[in-house]
Amino acid sequence: MTNQTQNPKNSVAIIGGGVAGMSAGCALAGAGYRVQLIERRGYLGGRASSYLHPGVGEVIDNCQHALFGCCTNLLGFYGRIGVADQIHWTRQMTMIEPGGRRSQLGPSSLPAPLHGLPKLLSAHAFSLADKIALGRALTALMKPVPADSMESLGAWLKRNGQTKGALDRFWRLVIASALNAEIDSISLPYAAKVIRELFLNSAEAGSMGMSRVPLSDLYANVTPFIESRGGAVLLNTHVDGAAFDARQAKWKVQTRNGEITADSLLIALPFEAMGKLLPQLPANAQAEKLANQIARHEHWPICSVHLWFDREITDLEHAVLLDREIHWMYNQSKLQPNRSGHYLELVVSATRSFAALERQQAIDLALRELAEFFPIVKQAKLEKVALLKDVRATFGVSPGIDAARPSAASPWPKCYLAGDWINTGWPSTMESAARSGHLAAEKLGLEDENPLRCFELDLKPSGLMRLLAK
Ligand SMILES: Cc1cc2nc3c(=O)[nH]c(=O)nc-3n(C[C@H](O)[C@H](O)[C@H](O)COP(=O)(O)OP(=O)(O)OC[C@H]3O[C@@H](n4cnc5c(N)ncnc54)[C@H](O)[C@@H]3O)c2cc1C
Repeated sequence: MTNQTQNPKNSVAIIGGGVAGMSAGCALAGAGYRVQLIERRGYLGGRASSYLHPGVGEVIDNCQHALFGCCTNLLGFYGRIGVADQIHWTRQMTMIEPGGRRSQLGPSSLPAPLHGLPKLLSAHAFSLADKIALGRALTALMKPVPADSMESLGAWLKRNGQTKGALDRFWRLVIASALNAEIDSISLPYAAKVIRELFLNSAEAGSMGMSRVPLSDLYANVTPFIESRGGAVLLNTHVDGAAFDARQAKWKVQTRNGEITADSLLIALPFEAMGKLLPQLPANAQAEKLANQIARHEHWPICSVHLWFDREITDLEHAVLLDREIHWMYNQSKLQPNRSGHYLELVVSATRSFAALERQQAIDLALRELAEFFPIVKQAKLEKVALLKDVRATFGVSPGIDAARPSAASPWPKCYLAGDWINTGWPSTMESAARSGHLAAEKLGLEDENPLRCFELDLKPSGLMRLLAK
């Protein structure tokens, strides 16, 4: 996957130990670079991490993080650090209506893009009119949408006659929550990409993966991987600024624990942290342009409610919960078998009103709604509960957002940008972060005259989609 660099002495300082920084760091360390991965927190993983929650005394993920078969670069990163087998895969999606009636979406043996059709047609969750509307929309999205389209998903759905059932139970719930925004704030090309990858290209691309271990355990091999190749992982190290010493052709990175010198710099921060660091980096016209791009981004929240009961609530591993504020149920006792107790996690995506609720109001609402899907909740004793609100969970992909997503090239010499918001063509996901890390690592290698290959290509569409996707 990687080549040994010709010059093992070249060093790289990477700011940010999220998925972007880790995937870049491991790819570069694997290619012979001396990597110094600098992270302000005491653990790696950034937004996709786990930690000991003091209120419940359990290590919990900061939210369930799902990936899909099409996440080729994230899987490449997991493969490089030897944890790809820690992902549990499923091809079934159970939708539950209040009252408990269930429908299943998932692939059949038909060739793509027809593989999901039999289950969609038999799903109780959709009326005949909903199914016809969905069929029409999915057919229209089989062909790629022009990348420069400025239309929103909401406007396109209106033009394409979607019913209330299709809007509420599919577009708002499944698609808008995968992109973590409201349909009127989602760029059509991004929505079309998600539809093609998850539902049309192939059953493999759309299969859903969830970690069998807490997220930070997935990254346990990152530090030994980098250290065994001459590098270092510096935790609890906040970066305050950096300057390029043109005479020595080296970067000097100012941290709260002292200065770090490196041949190259790779900045793998989310947009708001990049915006804070920018005034402490060399000023130039390109840096000003970057500041303007950063200013165009906005955040969307994700909340999760972590519940431990005295008994099993359901034997389902996960489900989509229809028509309510709570959207997704993950049965962590089943997904992460080393856990004790009966632990369910509920996820509420892109809902600013839920994020604004007081803690007890949010928990009461979640429990009340959960009981509508699983009546046993009313008899069960709630042993402990944690509510996590992340108002800065993801960046939005509104129409025209690509103009505000810079490439891996930075305004400065021997410096590269990564982070999920960099121009990867993907929405705010771990895959976008891993892609950005690999793109930045490849660009660094190229400019250093030590080309390395770490970027993973997309899965090829299968069946009839091979003809339609062009
Ligand atoms: C609640 C929630 C649910 C999500 N669900 C999913 C999901 O189901 N599937 C999915 O694919 N994605 C999901 N995401 C999105 C995903 O987590 C992110 O897209 C991805 O993790 C971003 O990685 P990153 O490396 O670009 O940024 P980050 O993870 O933000 O990493 C940046 C790192 O830089 C560090 N840092 C910041 N400033 C400094 C500084 N000055 N000095 C040193 N270090 C610094 C931070 O501490 C952080 O560790 C979710 C996100 C959240 C918050």
